[in-house]
Amino acid sequence: MENFKTFIPPERTLMGPGPSDVSPRVLNAMARPTLGHLDPLFIDLMDDIKGLLQYAFKTTNALTMPVSAPGSAGMEACFANLVEPGDKVVVCINGVFGNRMVENVTRCGGTAIKVEDAWGEQTSLQKVEDALKANPDAKILAFVHAETSTGVRNDAQSLCALARQYDCLSLVDAVTSLGGIEVDVDGWGIDAIYSGSQKCLSCVPGLSPVSFSPRAVEIIQNRKTPVQSWFLDMNLIVGYWGQGGKRAYHHTAPVNSLYALHESLLMLKEEGLEQSWQRHQQGHEALRDGLEGLGMQFSVDSHYRLPQLNAVAIPPGVDDAAARKQLLENDNLEIGAGLGDLAGKVWRIGLMGYACKPRNIDHCVASLARVIR
Ligand SMILES: *Cc1c(COP(=O)(O)O)cnc(C)c1O
Repeated sequence: MENFKTFIPPERTLMGPGPSDVSPRVLNAMARPTLGHLDPLFIDLMDDIKGLLQYAFKTTNALTMPVSAPGSAGMEACFANLVEPGDKVVVCINGVFGNRMVENVTRCGGTAIKVEDAWGEQTSLQKVEDALKANPDAKILAFVHAETSTGVRNDAQSLCALARQYDCLSLVDAVTSLGGIEVDVDGWGIDAIYSGSQKCLSCVPGLSPVSFSPRAVEIIQNRKTPVQSWFLDMNLIVGYWGQGGKRAYHHTAPVNSLYALHESLLMLKEEGLEQSWQRHQQGHEALRDGLEGLGMQFSVDSHYRLPQLNAVAIPPGVDDAAARKQLLENDNLEIGAGLGDLAGKVWRIGLMGYACKPRNIDHCVASLARVIR
């Protein structure tokens, strides 16, 4: 006889590349009674979520809502809606997620013009400008703001300005940046942006906030071909998420997950965006001091280091997998392994959202001190 039983997970401290620790306030919100997805009270909640997302993204974009799926689906929503067969997209690559963008462009029938920089370095503005000059027919400039695979912050404001200058739409991955560092959709002129619930928003995984500028919306409404994904077609989703009027069934919203997102955004609003960015920066500085005190070295230049994703070289002689296993089993602490070129060379220590607090930083430094000794 098989012995299936209720699953009770241990209380881990999640300090990897995401998911990050979820606030108990958010978990409690999620456990509240499920409403119908067209219940008037739920529609009111959806409107609140839109307003709170506009706050988080710093935008007045009407088409701002969470896609009912993880960050990768938000990425796919942006590309599937904006790219038509034959379109040229300049894609900046300096880590895992830039490559995933290229996959999206080609699967939409577009052509990706790759601008590549080394993992751990920033995207070169000069190379991007050269690519835009060489491809005056490019429609979109796409880049990752916070490259979670390396810990690098790309210069989103300057990249968006270049997109404007060369008459391109800007498409931005803000999965790890939103809530952790400054993101200013209207101020920087971002046309399409997606994020994720499980990184710096302190929420459960599975939702992807997106926002489209009026310029992007016009392009989506005037496509020559239908969006090849039925589920992600914004022209259909607005029938459910659109402002006011009658809401029609599109798909069953993940009602309880949306309670969670609402509560996490409310926490962000209560704390204040600037205060949240500051908390991540202060957390990073405390962690940096602790790790450098153990003799560990950061692998990204301090000028473009992400506070919420700390990539540090694995000290010589330390067994990567064994050390992380020991952290997980003895200290209930999860940190991230290196990816791709950086596998076996770095650890990625996340300080995202609710996980970014002094108690976790002390726990992390003390635990690491034991495993690298
Ligand atoms: C995590 C992440 C994604 C993918 O999000 P999922 O929720 O795992 O699908 C995309 N881009 C970046 C920069 C990320 O960190």
